[in-house]
Amino acid sequence: MLKPPHHAFALVSILLAASFSAANVDAESVNVYSARHYDSDDDLFERFSEETGISVNVIEGKSDELLVRIRQEGELSPADVFITVDAGRLYRGEEMELFAEIDSETLNERVPETLRHPDGLWFGLTKQARVLAVSRDRVSDNVTSLDYADLVEPHWRGRVLIRSSNNIYNQSLVASLIQTEGEAAAEQWCRGIVNNLARRPQGGDRDQIRALAAGEGDVAVVNHYYFAQMLVGSEADQRAASRVRIVFPDQAARGTHVNISGAAVLAMAPNHDNAVRLVEFLLSDYAQEILTRDTQEYPVVADVEGTSIVRSLGDFRSDSVNAARLGANNAAAVRVMDRAGWR
Ligand code: FE
Repeated sequence: MLKPPHHAFALVSILLAASFSAANVDAESVNVYSARHYDSDDDLFERFSEETGISVNVIEGKSDELLVRIRQEGELSPADVFITVDAGRLYRGEEMELFAEIDSETLNERVPETLRHPDGLWFGLTKQARVLAVSRDRVSDNVTSLDYADLVEPHWRGRVLIRSSNNIYNQSLVASLIQTEGEAAAEQWCRGIVNNLARRPQGGDRDQIRALAAGEGDVAVVNHYYFAQMLVGSEADQRAASRVRIVFPDQAARGTHVNISGAAVLAMAPNHDNAVRLVEFLLSDYAQEILTRDTQEYPVVADVEGTSIVRSLGDFRSDSVNAARLGANNAAAVRVMDRAGWR
């Protein structure tokens, strides 16, 4: 079955929102505003309720819309926990000063330092790697190591597939390059990518993999879980994925760029303690497995294994950039991509 992207907007949430009232604000509940839309997440909230007697009310929506809504609701907002995908989006909530600083021993111990905000404003729940997908048909199996920097070499001219620059995943990738290599080098890299494009940036990450399989290009930059989902997806997706293999870039040096989905407790949370308890629950071994079961993301907790599909991609080294820098460098990343002519 083809899964909708987790940032797809659930129309039903608008309707639910109308009935979401102050009646839900009491000691026995917790209110979640989530931009992640997976059945597995709902299963988890149910389990949390069974374990604690705390009912979970969920409003789903697009990340930025939820943040604006929380800001507009102000002190009266029932929002306790905000969940979204990409550290760049968490940063927007941080900028709006919506999040509480949480000092939880459990969270500090469970979430690696690079995957949580240094002041406890948010915590990574799951991890994604931005990897290179290469054509099995047109790239030799001997090519086992490939770095982001390789993609701008003349060898790859007219062969690179990547989505547009207005996508946050690419913005965060460039933000991480700015952090480790500096702005000038990041801009150079973006120019090189534009130079080597197989086609005008279009579609999402899955579409880059489909284009690889169709022979439109030879290497693509994608989040690992799209490939993993396609491996167990529709017949057409499985066929496309079978023509492609994954290489984790930068294993000898900086490590592969990783990003997170994460959770924040709202500064005005009416159910603060329940909110912290829910986020701690989401970092339990059990919850980490469920959170990554359908999404094929990586758990952030070190000793929790991902799905067998994700494990089949192999081990890799992540970069050591704190995810908070992805948001902090976002504006610079957008500037750099624009100057480089990346549309
Ligand atoms: Fe995604």
